[in-house]
Parts: sequence; structure tokens; C-alpha cells
Amino acid sequence: MITKTFWGWFWFVVVLTLASTNLSGKDPRMGAVSENAQMTVSVYNEAGVPVDVLRRGEHEASRIFYRAGIAVHWLNCKVPAPTEEISRRCREVVFPEHLHLRIVRKSVGLKGEAMGISFQTDDGSGCYADLFYEPMEDLQKSDGADLASLLGHVAAHEIGHLLLGTNSHAAAGIMQAHWTSQELTDAAVNRMVFLKEESQRMKERLLTATRVSRENSMGDAP
Ligand SMILES: [Zn+2]
Repeated sequence: MITKTFWGWFWFVVVLTLASTNLSGKDPRMGAVSENAQMTVSVYNEAGVPVDVLRRGEHEASRIFYRAGIAVHWLNCKVPAPTEEISRRCREVVFPEHLHLRIVRKSVGLKGEAMGISFQTDDGSGCYADLFYEPMEDLQKSDGADLASLLGHVAAHEIGHLLLGTNSHAAAGIMQAHWTSQELTDAAVNRMVFLKEESQRMKERLLTATRVSRENSMGDAP
């Protein structure tokens, strides 16, 4: 099953800009990663995103997940990889601990304003998401959007879909599907993060998976 994401154009950008300004002054250690919930994300930059924009976007997404109590390790992958070891690490796919993000120029078959899509199976698990860079560039040109911030928020939203399962759009927070003018208030801007319940679900999913794989590896020991 495919979860489609259609982001509102104008208000979304304004919200993101404000969110970035508003939240950047806060201590990122808030909601600290206390229980070692963590995941790895292989990133395939097929859209030619400038390195600094990509790094800042990843940093922004990391900040959003950090507030949810989750640490993200980014693997910036190239094909072909420089070494077999890097290639092996990049190709590894383990739900939910090792996910894959592909950034392409634009979607095939989705509306022009769609900025991302996550791919999930019927049981609500999925390891792959695509981000569409051209609509983000268009927003930068038309509304002065901060590309890195936009990229980071869309990345966090799509990874959120993968961790939260099907039907994971919410009425508030970063998992909202759309933004409207009514949501352009200070209070709404502060909600451009994962909700408490979402954070808890994602953390539990990751911690459970880590516990299971640790037990499995201990079981394999001679
Ligand atoms: Zn969505």
C-alpha cells in the first residue's frame, strides 16, 4: 500500500520558515534521547541536491527526531559506492532500524505539489520513501522557502510515515497532510514536531526492534 503525501503550497512554507526560526533557539537536548532509540537512514541523492543543503536538511530532520527521543544516523550513499564495505552498509535494509530515503527530481504520476511518498505494505511496515526536490525548489523560487528546512521537514514527515504505519496523518504536528492559513499561529508553528503519542509509538517500535535483534544475536552465540 502506498501512502501519498500532498503538502499545501504556500502556508506550509511560511509555517516552516517560522518553525525554523522559532525552534532554533531552543535547547535541542529537550526531549533527550534517553533510552537509546535510534535508527539509520541510507540517503540516495539522485536529484543533485547541493551537499550543504542536504547536510542541513539532515540536521533539521535529526533535530525533529531528537525532540521525539530518537537519534538518526545518516548514511549518504553513492552508486557505485567507493568500497564494498560502504556499499554493504548502504544496502542494508532492516525495518524499522535501517530505512532508505531517495531524493529524486520529481514524482511520476503524483500531483505537482507532492513532495514525498512513503511505501508501506499491508501490515503497516515499510523501509522506503522518496522525496521530490523540484517542487521544493519551486517553493524556494516563489516564496523564498528555506530549501534545507523544507527538505528536513519533508524527510521527517515521510520517515514518520514509515515508523508510524498506515493512516498516520494527524490533525496537528509534523504528520499533518496539509497546512492552512488558520494554522498560521504561534501555537501551530510550535507543533511542527512529532506529537507526544507519535514520539512514544516510534520510540517503542525502535526499542522493541533493537531488543529483539539483540536477543536474537545473543541466541546465536556459541
Ligand atoms: Zn504524509
